Amino acid sequence: MKKTNMIPLLFAGVIALTGCNANQKNAANTGLNLANMDTTVSPGTDFYQYACGGWIKNNPLPPEFARYGTFDKLRDENQTQLRSLVEEVQKGKQSAGSEAAKISLFYEMGLDSTKLNADGAKPLQQQLDAIRNLKTETDLSAMVATLHKEGMTPFFSLNVNADEKNSSMNIVQLYQAGLGMGDRDYYIVNDAESSKMRDAYKTYINKLFTLAGYNATEAASAVNAVLKIETEIARVSSSREQLRDSQKNYNKITVDQFKSKSTLLDWTVYFKTLGLENMKELDAKQIAFYPALAKSMTKITLDEKKYYLEFNLLDGAAPYLSDAFVNANFDFFGKTMSGSQVLQPRWKRSLTTTNGALGEAIGRLYVAKYFPASSKEKMLTLVKNLQKALGERIQNLQWMSDATKAKAKEKLAAFTIKIGYPDKWRDYSKLDVKNDSYWNNVCRSNIFEFEYHLADVGKPVDKVRWYMFPQTVNAYYNPTSNEICFPAAILQPPFFNPNADDAVNYGAIGVVIGHEMTHGFDDQGRNYDKSGNMTDWWTSEDAAKFKAKADVLAKQYNDIVVLDSVHANGEYTLGENIADHGGLLVAHQAYENTLKGKSVPQPIDGFTNEQRFYIAYATLWGQNIRNEEILRLTKMDPHSLGKWRVNAALRNMDDFYKAFNIKPTDAMYLAPDKRVVIW
Ligand SMILES: [Zn+2]
Repeated sequence: MKKTNMIPLLFAGVIALTGCNANQKNAANTGLNLANMDTTVSPGTDFYQYACGGWIKNNPLPPEFARYGTFDKLRDENQTQLRSLVEEVQKGKQSAGSEAAKISLFYEMGLDSTKLNADGAKPLQQQLDAIRNLKTETDLSAMVATLHKEGMTPFFSLNVNADEKNSSMNIVQLYQAGLGMGDRDYYIVNDAESSKMRDAYKTYINKLFTLAGYNATEAASAVNAVLKIETEIARVSSSREQLRDSQKNYNKITVDQFKSKSTLLDWTVYFKTLGLENMKELDAKQIAFYPALAKSMTKITLDEKKYYLEFNLLDGAAPYLSDAFVNANFDFFGKTMSGSQVLQPRWKRSLTTTNGALGEAIGRLYVAKYFPASSKEKMLTLVKNLQKALGERIQNLQWMSDATKAKAKEKLAAFTIKIGYPDKWRDYSKLDVKNDSYWNNVCRSNIFEFEYHLADVGKPVDKVRWYMFPQTVNAYYNPTSNEICFPAAILQPPFFNPNADDAVNYGAIGVVIGHEMTHGFDDQGRNYDKSGNMTDWWTSEDAAKFKAKADVLAKQYNDIVVLDSVHANGEYTLGENIADHGGLLVAHQAYENTLKGKSVPQPIDGFTNEQRFYIAYATLWGQNIRNEEILRLTKMDPHSLGKWRVNAALRNMDDFYKAFNIKPTDAMYLAPDKRVVIW
């Protein structure tokens, strides 16, 4: 289930999470590790290379990674910490039904290669048979509901989130889904890259059916059916750019109205299977998707739909079955789509899954061991200073009217700030973990999660709930609750270093805080008011001026060539680029505020405080990345690639030019009239 429309700092859909050379700790005391730099390149030529070239050279891509950056490395170290926590739990006393017993057994089931390989496709045989035995379209509608509960997303997905126009209440939201390759372009674009992907996808589908015991004719029919149905879904799906338009994607209607619009499923049966038979209204998001898909599905036989559902199940289960299934899944998603060379070791895969299923139980252990209470205090001060700086910047904006400024400042003052870990922990007592099979545990955990959210339908939004685990190296802004959240795991170097000078902390975690804050005011966030309700609180002139500036920024990124002839997508990445640039501006101003009435700090390691601010920022985004992953992320990730989060954002900062004495003849140089300042 999709947890709100919260906006993370880093794309969560990265296939390979972790690596293995965790020996290079960030310089503990001065905050900057000069070995990360490449001073043979001048800052005005390529600042990213200048600040991160050493890191890039010293941290080659481990074979299991598609991308390996500062973030990934921290996540890697984080995995090692989580492993030791789970292993301590395994060694300790575990009373039956306790969280410790659940963590321990879940993890062990994922490690037990002997059982996994002996079982083969057996753990999902019953579910496959149930699909094969469906006799009618009505049976099929009930099955779609069952699969949704179990964590698969055939055709669309059902989620429970805050109603965007009544943000204190929860509502059911339906999102377009059902594409195994994730993006509609892979199905409908006819370039070499997409057709290569389609061919590999066919091989993958065939392989899964063959492994599950279907004969060659059946497997071939399954390949045709899946491609046929997913191509129809792709044709009626909104593009990623269209999905950014919050207003157009808000379509609250009564359930009766919704049922009358589309015969895609027997909706009465579908909702009844989920226990939602009394539901009165829902938000159908991409509302045109359902009638359009219903129309194209009239050409599809029941048998073909059954293959499609079976594939959803096989694809969903593959990472949790025998090595043959796991390898088939990795060959397609890891190797072909992302360019990774080898599978992650088993312990990392099992740990990631266990962590996903029992995240707050493990999070509680993580916080107790690794999160010093003093960090929370320091962060609160930083956040407060950033909030003040953004308020000042809003007040001084030339392009915004006083009326809109007043509302923007109200919204800023109303931020909910979550730091470290939740005040209230999740209760896992109703989650069953058993020794039947790893896949059954994953399935039960998905149902547990689904029901947890389903219980919220029609109820008030729980304002203290977290949408990330404390042990997650990331941060987020959630527009419907107007909240920013910084989990414990991001509050460590190189993001946050209690021993470093202010310039470094403001350049690193300060920019992250500013980044999340400005999401409240980016091309999406600006559509929500201080209470998280989607309403237009801008004067029309201000909205037009905002859009004109945002368009210039989008164009700057559209001009970037990410690989060969492929360009960045400036419209799709607009919100994140506004946040990166805005975060830099706000953090820089907050840092300047700390210096008021004080003498300028002495240079450290030969770098001025101003220079250290920008170097610390760039350090966060150093990364090595495979070409396949560049292409995949350019399609799927609303964030820019590391290099452009640095170079493209900094080109718009007047103070950056001053700090490094960058000249009009330098490659990084952008003429002042070409620079954009939004916040
Ligand atoms: Zn962001």
